[in-house]
Amino acid sequence: MKYDYLIVGSGLYGAVFAHEAKKAGKSVLVIDKRPNIAGNVYTQETEGINVHIYGAHIFHTNNKEVWDYVTQFAEFNRFTNSPVANYKGELYSLPFNMYTFNKMWGVVTPEEAAAKIEEQRKEITGEPKNLEEQAISLVGRDIYEKLIKGYTEKQWGRDCKELPSFIIKRLPVRLTFDNNYFNALYQGIPVGGYTQMVANMLEGIEVRLNTDYLANKAELDALADKVVYTGPIDAYFDFKLGTLEYRSVRFETELLDKPNFQGNAAVNYTDRETPWTRIIEHKWFEFGKDKNGNDLPKTVISREYSSEWKPGDEPYYPVNDEKNGALYAEYKKLADSEKNIIFGGRLGEYKYYDMDAVIASALDLCKKEL
Ligand SMILES: Cc1cc2nc3c(=O)[nH]c(=O)nc-3n(C[C@H](O)[C@H](O)[C@H](O)COP(=O)(O)OP(=O)(O)OC[C@H]3O[C@@H](n4cnc5c(N)ncnc54)[C@H](O)[C@@H]3O)c2cc1C
Repeated sequence: MKYDYLIVGSGLYGAVFAHEAKKAGKSVLVIDKRPNIAGNVYTQETEGINVHIYGAHIFHTNNKEVWDYVTQFAEFNRFTNSPVANYKGELYSLPFNMYTFNKMWGVVTPEEAAAKIEEQRKEITGEPKNLEEQAISLVGRDIYEKLIKGYTEKQWGRDCKELPSFIIKRLPVRLTFDNNYFNALYQGIPVGGYTQMVANMLEGIEVRLNTDYLANKAELDALADKVVYTGPIDAYFDFKLGTLEYRSVRFETELLDKPNFQGNAAVNYTDRETPWTRIIEHKWFEFGKDKNGNDLPKTVISREYSSEWKPGDEPYYPVNDEKNGALYAEYKKLADSEKNIIFGGRLGEYKYYDMDAVIASALDLCKKEL
């Protein structure tokens, strides 16, 4: 049979489009080269814990349409992201707020905290020449030294004095006791894991895993009238104009025979000496309970390391610089001249999308296309 749509990629973009196309009465086939659905939001259960295999994913949005949409497929828990910073064993609340300032300086009132920051910012008089000066001019030396410097240097693999100031435009400071990292109306983690949520989106839809579109293109193209492609745009064109670059992360995941390793889902290591940038303890995204509400006896942690990306590595964050932007624009021209194919999602559009934004983008396509 010939399908109306072949959807390449079972991540959020592909799954939303597939669901809506089926609902509109279209026939769809979803393929993915990985052995599992859900793309980068894939979670895998280990010892009752939903492990976020491609990095910690916290759903947050101000978009009510998107929130109403996703909650059809999963119930979301009340998880709020409140990361902790560990600087050589000293623990601080993030994002920077009154708890942080109280721990840093012993200040008690917002006025005292504001005065302390103001006094330290004065150190920089002229135009900041690099990221270090920029950060100090925004929040002062103490916060910079303990909470920004080492973390940023590990992320970029370079000294803050050698990094351009424009990387940090703003550093939000809260003069309230508020550890909620995201300023979002809606936030949470899907109960049962993201994989189950995507499986619910794909219910009743034919999915073929371990199927690489580009390796079997002619044969797969013959199966459908139109293709929705959510893989890397440069790979589609066989990298003929060059390779788009990504920033990468490496994860080292470990199962520990103890119930509680760090007492929080995310702890950032903000000193330079600790080689990892942060540790995720997955069970705390679901309050340490299994699906029946029982306490889990073991725990799974992932240490995250910033690493240089090279072709062939897992693509994570697109690099938003001039060189890559210009190369993407050239690929986009080629994509626009292809017939019967739509490029979408974070890889197809070479764009950093949060989950809510990728869902909104897929829903926009549905409005135009279906
Ligand atoms: C480390 C990290 C942490 C993140 N944390 C958050 C967060 O906390 N909150 C948030 O809102 N967002 C977060 N995001 C963003 C989120 O991951 C994305 O918005 C979302 O995964 C994008 O979905 P997608 O469908 O566009 O892409 P993907 O999920 O990448 O799906 C693309 C799919 O296409 C498949 N594919 C590619 N090429 C082929 C081919 N040739 N043949 C067949 N299949 C192919 C891939 O295997 C993949 O399954 C994070 C991203 C990263 C990198």
